[in-house]
Amino acid sequence: MQVCVIGAGVIGCAIALELRRRGFDVTSVDKNGDAGHGSTSSSCGIVRRFYSQPGMIAMAHEGWHIWADWRSFVGDIEGDLIEFPCPGMIFIPPRLDANVLATAAEMQRIGIKTHVLSPAELKERFPFLDVSSYYPPTPVSDPRFFEPSEHQIEGAVYEEDAGYVVFPALAAQNLRQAAERAGVVFRFNRRITAIEAGATRRFRLELTGGEAIDADVVVNVAGPHSGVINRMAGVTLPLETRPLRREVHAQANPLYESGVPLPIVGDLDGGIYFRPESRGRDIIVGSTDPQCDVLEFVDDPDNFDRGVTQLYRERQSLRLMKRVPSVTLGRPRGIADLYDVTLQDWYPIVDRTDRPGYYVCIGTSGSSFKSAPVLGMLTAQIVEACESGRDTDVAPIQLTLPRIGVSVDTRFLARNRATLKTTSTVIG
Ligand SMILES: Cc1cc2nc3c(=O)[nH]c(=O)nc-3n(C[C@H](O)[C@H](O)[C@H](O)COP(=O)(O)OP(=O)(O)OC[C@H]3O[C@@H](n4cnc5c(N)ncnc54)[C@H](O)[C@@H]3O)c2cc1C
Repeated sequence: MQVCVIGAGVIGCAIALELRRRGFDVTSVDKNGDAGHGSTSSSCGIVRRFYSQPGMIAMAHEGWHIWADWRSFVGDIEGDLIEFPCPGMIFIPPRLDANVLATAAEMQRIGIKTHVLSPAELKERFPFLDVSSYYPPTPVSDPRFFEPSEHQIEGAVYEEDAGYVVFPALAAQNLRQAAERAGVVFRFNRRITAIEAGATRRFRLELTGGEAIDADVVVNVAGPHSGVINRMAGVTLPLETRPLRREVHAQANPLYESGVPLPIVGDLDGGIYFRPESRGRDIIVGSTDPQCDVLEFVDDPDNFDRGVTQLYRERQSLRLMKRVPSVTLGRPRGIADLYDVTLQDWYPIVDRTDRPGYYVCIGTSGSSFKSAPVLGMLTAQIVEACESGRDTDVAPIQLTLPRIGVSVDTRFLARNRATLKTTSTVIG
């Protein structure tokens, strides 16, 4: 059976590999020149397991095990393999409420090294962090922004061995090599321009340059272009995905010279996340989407401002300077790229659709790099089941995660799910 996977990002490559491992003939098409040159290349690559949905905690944990033993997953690779340092991650929630404690308990239950820390314990372990509470975050233009806080945070959740993939595009390229070795054909520098009904197979995909690909199955893994591809295929889903512009900035890490290790921090109280970069010389900082910041959805994923802006830089870097007061504002450095956001709940959509043979793994909402290999397995399993005559709407996939010994009911990722109770932010 001929499958065309649209998109060779980290998730697209993982899906292509898993489909091939299950015996499908797979062609992967990407408009860019190599794997991982889409939104994957801008990813912060953070691999944490703190999520609102237990299924996602488990999938991220399985993902962590795969990143930690990457060579076993991809086999022998020519050139460099990814690096996966694990300095741990601290979550500073606005409140240490029942939901946060339930998440921490679920993480502990499935074997993730998780600790709930009081402000004093946090300060003792990480003395460079200010434990004041800034919730709710305000815009920099608000006079309250620079006022000292009279309150402390309620506490933090510490994920002891959370990590990050140093060069996310390399992860996609490692997967590409593994997939090519298994027999996947990659077609780069080719943009899919139309998806029609085929004469000999279900689909005829037209590519730039006048070529065409005939396929029985199409998988849309086009990242921020997911909506464009769905419209091309004439497929409407009950959940909507839209591209959201993001910026991530770099500042010098003041702890670097003293050799004090910096953990990853998800500062929901302050409205930012940050992690070490450039082997600890820098800190990169992004947003956790506090309500005071207007979300910048874009209409056309091929046409958006790729430059970093003063507005975002000030906002994110000054918030970082509140949490780590020794940071100083350096020259502007950073990137701008797009998330592919599921508007309703910020969780991915991994499912068949109502058009036979057309599948999606989209809406990854800025937080699914970590689960890419697991999403690859799930998508391949859905395709295999549906193409063998099973209706996964009626009999959903129970995904076995062998490394952590957990089975996940994957209905929470289905296109027709009831709206999930999530943070509706990148935290998921
Ligand atoms: C700034 C940023 C920070 C992030 N940080 C994290 C993080 O710390 N941790 C985490 O887990 N996740 C993170 N993410 C999310 C994660 O990186 C993405 O979910 C993941 O990389 C998406 O992979 P993908 O393969 O689905 O999409 P992409 O990498 O976007 O790949 C899609 C591909 O489809 C191709 N394509 C699109 N349209 C067409 C067409 N018509 N024809 C041919 N090809 C086409 C594109 O060229 C592209 O290469 C972050 C994302 C961003 C943008």
